[in-house]
Amino acid sequence: MCPGETGVGALAEKQEKRQNPQSRETLEQEPTRSDRKFSAECEQFTMRAMDDLDLDDQMRELLLASQREVQFELPLRRSDGSLVVFYGNRVQHDSSRGPFKGGIRFHPDIDIDHSRMLARTMTWKCALADLPFGGAKGGVNCRSRDLDRVERAAILRGYVDRIIPLLGVNNDIPAPDMGTNAYDMAVLFDQMTKYHQQEPGVVTGKPTELGGLSAREGATGHGVSHVTCLAAGEHDIDINGARVAVQGFGKVARVAARNLAEAGARVIAVSDSDGGAYSEQGLDIGAMLRIREDDDQARVADLAAGADAVSNEEVLALDTDILIPAAIEGVLDADSAASVCAKLVVEAANLPTTCGGDSVLRERGITVVPDILANAGGVVVSYLEWVQNHQRLGWSSDKVNNHLETLLDTAWNAMLEASRNHNIDYRDAAYRVAIARVVRARTLRGI
Ligand code: NAD
Repeated sequence: MCPGETGVGALAEKQEKRQNPQSRETLEQEPTRSDRKFSAECEQFTMRAMDDLDLDDQMRELLLASQREVQFELPLRRSDGSLVVFYGNRVQHDSSRGPFKGGIRFHPDIDIDHSRMLARTMTWKCALADLPFGGAKGGVNCRSRDLDRVERAAILRGYVDRIIPLLGVNNDIPAPDMGTNAYDMAVLFDQMTKYHQQEPGVVTGKPTELGGLSAREGATGHGVSHVTCLAAGEHDIDINGARVAVQGFGKVARVAARNLAEAGARVIAVSDSDGGAYSEQGLDIGAMLRIREDDDQARVADLAAGADAVSNEEVLALDTDILIPAAIEGVLDADSAASVCAKLVVEAANLPTTCGGDSVLRERGITVVPDILANAGGVVVSYLEWVQNHQRLGWSSDKVNNHLETLLDTAWNAMLEASRNHNIDYRDAAYRVAIARVVRARTLRGI
């Protein structure tokens, strides 16, 4: 909490909601924001950078449009014999810097608007990290946990069959996303092999036995902690002893929290969809992860014995040096941003800040490291997997992690330089660098 404000646990209504299994279900069913208003809001970050770069109307239109969008039905004969029809989509935003790259998401809310917004964000993320990729995204409106292994595989194979002419190692390379994992990528790889022969680089985020990288699983969290340390150094926050609050305790948040704790930070709060745990002395993240390893269904509240309960809203408002939203989209809106007390916000989740939230944080002088840099570690390591697959070589995890840090350092420096040279905040600087690179590629190619 900001000094002088209500203490942890004051929001009794939210506490009650957390303890109610019905509300847990509701939260888990709504981990994304797919409404058109949110998509339009997110477009504002792109528009601002395009204004800044003084782009003409034709170039703006090109950059906002997708190069290709497809939607299709995916009928599934379920294991119990019933028939259900899901819908899939793939949006390919821009390939001027290289093949399309982007995840395949399984989520009931995924629709073409959502994929369009995420595909465009991927283009900027790849360009900022200077990867030879453009952005794509796709998904199926199914709920992962409702499907058994056979059903998941049938959906994934159907997905590949519908869009196979659009996929390929130098065309469009899928990866895991929310609701999909390395084993799903193994199925995608197998199905694509039926069309493209043995080419491991057709998909990234694969199991290591099929040419994936062991560093991929933790890469996004590793990138988040690395960028957090860079930002802390720039803003005179000593990471050793810095107070850090993390919203989320999923794949990204767990690695980021562990790395920061190992670097000496005091991680005072983490959360999941049920709420979080708070300890002024700092949570023992290592111990929490060990319990979690034995019980992957354990909630944060079960992992941190003795810690205080805290709601997700309260995590965002804690008095900390660094706040890391690492759960879902749109959590920092104008209202919640007004309660943020951190000096630095590092966006580990995709699009955690709405345009309204961004304005409030900016007015309040709170530094934000944008998602397109903070969580780029995943796509950077996907790129390294693709490169190794091309070479038919395997690198050590140390080598992969060194490359990851070097590429993130370069992106960080490009953003910092643009921020200083043009007197703009980090988000505008990151978008400016990324969009200028895409414009340059498009112009050079005569588009
Ligand atoms: P995950 O599913 O492993 O974890 C998500 C976490 O958020 C869980 O702890 C979950 O309990 C929590 N959560 C869900 N609903 C919530 C709610 N309503 N309020 C608060 N917390 C809630 O996902 P992840 O892979 O860790 O991804 C987290 C974020 O990072 C997402 O925005 C994702 O798009 C983004 N991201 C992930 C990767 C990656 O490589 N995994 C890469 C780039 C961006």
